Amino acid sequence: MVQSSVLGFPRMGVLRDLKKANEAYWADKISQEALLAEGKRLRLAHWKIQKDAGVDIIPSNDFAHYDHVLDHIQLFNAVPERYTSQKLSPLDEYFAMGRGHQKGGVDVPALEMVKWFDSNYHYVKPTLQDNQTFSLAKDPKPVREFLEAKEAGFQTRPVLVGPVSFLALGKADRGSSVDPITLLDKLVPVYVELLKQLKAAGAESVQIDEPVLVFDLRPEVKAAFKPAYEAIAAAGDAVPKVVVATYFGDIVHNFDVLPAFSGAAGLHVDLVRNPEQLEPVLKQLGPNQILSAGVVDGRNIWKNDFAKSLEILQTAVKALGSERVIVATSSSLIHTPHTLASEKKLPSDVYEWFSFAVEKVKEVATLAKAVTEPEAVKAELEANAAAIKARTDSKRTNDPAVKERQAQVTPEQHNRKAPFNTRYAEQKKHLSLPLFPTTTIGSFPQTSEIRVQRNKFTKGEISAEEYERFIEKEIELAVKIQDELDLDVYVHGEPERNDMVQYFGERLNGYVFTTHAWVQSYGSRCVRPPIIVGDISRPAPMTVKESKYAASISKKPMKGMLTGPVTCLRWSFPRVDVHQSVQCQQLALALRDEVVDLEKNGIYVIQVDEPALREGLPLRKGQEREAYLKWAVDSFKLATAGVENSTQIHSHFCYSEFQDFFHAIAALDADVLSIENSKSDAKLLKVFIDEEYPRHIGPGVYDIHSPRVPTLEEFKQRIEEMLAYLKPEQLWINPDCGLKTRKWDEVKGALSHMVEAAKYFREKYANKA
Ligand code: GLN
Ligand code: ZN
Repeated sequence: MVQSSVLGFPRMGVLRDLKKANEAYWADKISQEALLAEGKRLRLAHWKIQKDAGVDIIPSNDFAHYDHVLDHIQLFNAVPERYTSQKLSPLDEYFAMGRGHQKGGVDVPALEMVKWFDSNYHYVKPTLQDNQTFSLAKDPKPVREFLEAKEAGFQTRPVLVGPVSFLALGKADRGSSVDPITLLDKLVPVYVELLKQLKAAGAESVQIDEPVLVFDLRPEVKAAFKPAYEAIAAAGDAVPKVVVATYFGDIVHNFDVLPAFSGAAGLHVDLVRNPEQLEPVLKQLGPNQILSAGVVDGRNIWKNDFAKSLEILQTAVKALGSERVIVATSSSLIHTPHTLASEKKLPSDVYEWFSFAVEKVKEVATLAKAVTEPEAVKAELEANAAAIKARTDSKRTNDPAVKERQAQVTPEQHNRKAPFNTRYAEQKKHLSLPLFPTTTIGSFPQTSEIRVQRNKFTKGEISAEEYERFIEKEIELAVKIQDELDLDVYVHGEPERNDMVQYFGERLNGYVFTTHAWVQSYGSRCVRPPIIVGDISRPAPMTVKESKYAASISKKPMKGMLTGPVTCLRWSFPRVDVHQSVQCQQLALALRDEVVDLEKNGIYVIQVDEPALREGLPLRKGQEREAYLKWAVDSFKLATAGVENSTQIHSHFCYSEFQDFFHAIAALDADVLSIENSKSDAKLLKVFIDEEYPRHIGPGVYDIHSPRVPTLEEFKQRIEEMLAYLKPEQLWINPDCGLKTRKWDEVKGALSHMVEAAKYFREKYANKA
């Protein structure tokens, strides 16, 4: 019998229940007991969903109130002293590390949180000391939750972050210089002790996640697997059987590590991302080892293609026999929304194409049966084939006009008409910009009034005309304030936009939207990405009306504001039936039309934001990364290159670490780049000199994430620092990101200092010239 398994289930619940409970606890609205009870209710509900679906191997310890890596920091007593010394309850100490704690005389910031591989989930970084020790927490969470499940009648497989990944994903605390991986010897005994307790509690097997195996690993990290897993194997029957899990990539380049797992019962690999690793992995397994075949995608919302998965599973079963194959999700399902059943507004044809966590769990169980007894699940297999076919054949998916246009894209369409120097000369004349031009990144404060009016409009309580008039008033206000501030390039303020991607998705063909499909991003924060279901095209201009109105009432150049193709793609659930580069090119063509329309309507400065370009970088350097950068850069260029020389293209990035892919940033050929930089060392700008970057740059001169208004002196100092790395005629003066989260007072205060500082340098350099 082929078994079925799930690597992890979303924690939030049907209606983001965990978010609500956590936030209520943080606001002192519910007690600690009430919060913990809600956690337990969710765990039990999620185990039941999986058991009812017929899943054989159900995970425990996949639940976390904030983040599962953070759970392990506490589990191994690896909590930095600045938290333990506060004498908070374990739960409060835990949240203090996740989100900081500023209450009752205690004031500690959070630990660093970073992206979990290439997903939009964020984990808390293990933050370790030179003299770090580890010990097992009292009443260890994995044991507690295993017993909780057992008591309720669920035999589960605890999920643990592996010892090597835990350390490799960590860092030295400030003031320490330890290489975390050197702490392995100290961690392993604690790990073995934990496994013994799990075995004593009745756990037959555990899932140990070692996702770092998909990275290019330093030799020190590679070498750590052997001692760690040999120590576990040496404990023999005193510990549960171990399945080592990897996901989000292939592990072929790390096959030399595999002998370290010779004592493990099995290996899990991601066969959605890298189906081609099946054959080589099959050859690597030991004579009795099990393959956990990740064929149901944990990262998206699409219905599994059973025929395709069964082909993979049959290959595995042929090689290993059905006893040695487990059908699994490719990764934990925390990257998918809870259930499709909550979606009441999706078009009915499209509804049939999707599968969220609850539905994916059923898919895993069905596939496991289908491998050996297809007759038993005949109806399910037929329904699946019909749904897949309906999607393939759908008019929604295939728009011949879009394909036709893509077929005709030429290399020349990616290039501006003239090189930068020629363009700049024309822009300078056309836009009459001063030295050190000042501008902002796009959005102005999204006041509660804006949200109220938008809600009223969505609910039909005010008419489209009334809403439009309201937006115009907001634009008038933004223009008036920019007049007063004496900025050089204006923005309309984006009052009509709820979200950078959804706003465009709603105006494009090829997208659908959900009402409840939330996915955890970090802690209690969830996002609800729009879904790309078909070929993308632009039925009508998307932003021209607002930008044109804004330009008509302002005396300085008005900057049009668009979200770039790569960011639109990255912050949506993409299709899986065509390559992402194809979808990105479709978005680029739609945006190209928008850019040209803006220009036709008198908008001669156009900013195309690409904050998500960097996060799309493949996990490993080399070919795959270069291929990504090629199509990502091409899409940006295709979107922006349709304008005249005298029109100035800007782009914006919410980061300034360009070192590892500077060539791609340079290849965008944007006339002006605004980048984050306000919290980073100005030294990061050195790359612009080293690479002789010829175009213009606006490194953020202040941090918009803080309500604080920097002084005039601070602005001058920051600009002075930048001038050490950039030529005066290259430098734009702007904040480091959009201002939508700020209050108007803060914005006016900061921008007036910013403009004054720019004027100071303008005068200083005018005299020099
Ligand atoms: N133009 C957007 C804004 O100002 C950019 C946001 C972003 O970079 N994330 O809000
Ligand atoms: Zn930004």
